[in-house]
Amino acid sequence: MTNQHQYEVIIVGAGGAGLMAALYASKGAKTAVLSKLYPTRSHTGAAQGGIGAALGNLEEDRAEWHTYDTVKGSDYLGDQDAIEFMCQEAPAVVYELEHMGLPFSRTKEGRIAQRRFGGHTNNDTGKPVLRSCYAADRTGHMILQTLYQQCIKREVTFFDEFHVLDLVMSEGQVAGVVAVELATGELHVFHAKAVIFATGGHGRVWEVTSNAYAYTGDGVAITLRRGIPAQDMEFFQFHPTGIFKLGILITEGVRGEGGVLINKEGQRFMKEYAPSVKDLASRDVVSRSMYIEMREGRGINGKNYMYLDVTPETVNKFAEIDGRVRPDGTPYRVTGEEILKKLPDIIDFCRTYIGVDPMKEPMPVQPTAHYAMGGIPTNQFGEVLIDENKTMLPGLYAAGEVACVSVHGANRLGTNSLLDIVVFGKQAGLKAAEHAKDASFQPLPDDATDFTRQQLDRLLKNSGEERAADISKEMKQVMSADVGVFRTEKGMSEAVQKIRELRERYKKVGVDDKGKLFNTNLLNTWELGALLDVAEVTAEAALARKESRGAHAREDFPKRNDAEWMKHSLAWLKEDKIELRYKPVTQTKYEPKERVY
Ligand SMILES: Cc1cc2nc3c(=O)[nH]c(=O)nc-3n(C[C@H](O)[C@H](O)[C@H](O)COP(=O)(O)OP(=O)(O)OC[C@H]3O[C@@H](n4cnc5c(N)ncnc54)[C@H](O)[C@@H]3O)c2cc1C
Repeated sequence: MTNQHQYEVIIVGAGGAGLMAALYASKGAKTAVLSKLYPTRSHTGAAQGGIGAALGNLEEDRAEWHTYDTVKGSDYLGDQDAIEFMCQEAPAVVYELEHMGLPFSRTKEGRIAQRRFGGHTNNDTGKPVLRSCYAADRTGHMILQTLYQQCIKREVTFFDEFHVLDLVMSEGQVAGVVAVELATGELHVFHAKAVIFATGGHGRVWEVTSNAYAYTGDGVAITLRRGIPAQDMEFFQFHPTGIFKLGILITEGVRGEGGVLINKEGQRFMKEYAPSVKDLASRDVVSRSMYIEMREGRGINGKNYMYLDVTPETVNKFAEIDGRVRPDGTPYRVTGEEILKKLPDIIDFCRTYIGVDPMKEPMPVQPTAHYAMGGIPTNQFGEVLIDENKTMLPGLYAAGEVACVSVHGANRLGTNSLLDIVVFGKQAGLKAAEHAKDASFQPLPDDATDFTRQQLDRLLKNSGEERAADISKEMKQVMSADVGVFRTEKGMSEAVQKIRELRERYKKVGVDDKGKLFNTNLLNTWELGALLDVAEVTAEAALARKESRGAHAREDFPKRNDAEWMKHSLAWLKEDKIELRYKPVTQTKYEPKERVY
């Protein structure tokens, strides 16, 4: 049985981007939010370090500096008009969140406190600047709770634990989505004038990741299957500091507060790779430096991890060596109490999960798959662009990690994603409501649920000759080995072959649970299909890009090649192949330069 609903705007996803979009769309249009998770379980709630904005209320800072740092951090692949827009909007959205009730950490004077973060600098001195606004080390949790409360206050309609599996199109226009209700297993069709995808990222393609189990790339896979391209998928960020083997994130805020990375010989090795900003270089640079150290045998105990040390003695020792001062000019020195107050959650994680007390001893860390720079192509208003001529698809929007605006280019700076989700979530919400005002509902096709039913029926009827767990394991292994921090032609060609083979084997995957109620077995297996599509597009786009830029580091093409490759990739998923095309990067006033740290 199929249930039918009608809303002017449907938002898929209830993380920071989806909730911000909902707040704004619901002001002008009949809006509903669909989420496969209960909203406050969205991954935004896991964000620790902070949200970037050049408030300039503690020391000098400017939106222009934030813009330039982001352009440079993106390794010149970010679209400069969109970056300028985001950084200019940043202070206003931070104050907007504050006025909604977000409990930011504060200075003694009562101002919003800020900490240092990788890649954020005073452009005159090149030194790190205080730009990351935070609520201890649970900034994302606070953003999510605050936005959810606001949505409840404004009586936004939520369909919780509704898993969207398809986008319904009618005569080339958006007509709605199809979702499975987890509790009943029933299909629902949501007829809509506008659909906003805000489904988050896809880090579960890799073995060691900081990402939630739900980060399976659903939004990108659903739109790919409907003929919409995915942009810049070869760029996936590895965060330098995940807990060894577990991948759980240790925020960059640890280094912002003065923590340092140490190798087997007790050396603070980042001073060799980035003499100016050292441990606060961009994430791609730090992750690669760690790999080189480990490859050269300087991992701790000869293994693939390093130490991250935030004990007060170490912080104070290096603060003295660096001559670090507070904004009032006094030397930067910390007590254990201060560290505990600023980083309570990560200290707790380490004590709980690995029995290490970061107040007394260093944490074992390794790079962890963290953030998707690529995704559904949009402009700065969240409008989805379906080709290299920037043609819009009326009624379709995307915002947050699932979208590629592109403000992060080849490498995202820390704190810029929480900023991205509120700035572009808001824009997408406004635009979708505006569209709904003039547009009419497209008629729903009779076969609206057919594609979804086919996919689920196949999984339910297959004999189970292939096991999802095996395919998932093999996908993660090959993507980590060959489409990870360092890449080569040979490795990536093998990865492409392997993923193709896994996609074939996936056709024979079955599920054990054939029931209707809370069939997570079925939906998790569907998610694996989404991950495989995303993995193939990622590997193919990476293989084609013959240069190194940001997070895409090729050993066989170690240099950035602006003459040929300063362009965005667009990948279409065709029946038996991936088609790649390219579109130019939007440049305003920043000429590409060599990145120096
Ligand atoms: C551990 C960690 C720490 C981080 N720390 C920071 C930080 O300090 N600063 C920073 O700027 N960034 C940080 N990031 C990145 C940032 O948190 C995320 O990129 C951002 O929160 C993503 O928000 P979103 O709204 O796009 O997605 P999410 O918050 O993940 O929300 C996705 C939503 O989509 C829903 N959904 C997904 N698929 C479907 C489907 N098929 N059907 C229905 N619903 C669906 C989910 O239920 C969920 O509600 C961090 C990320 C991680 C993993």
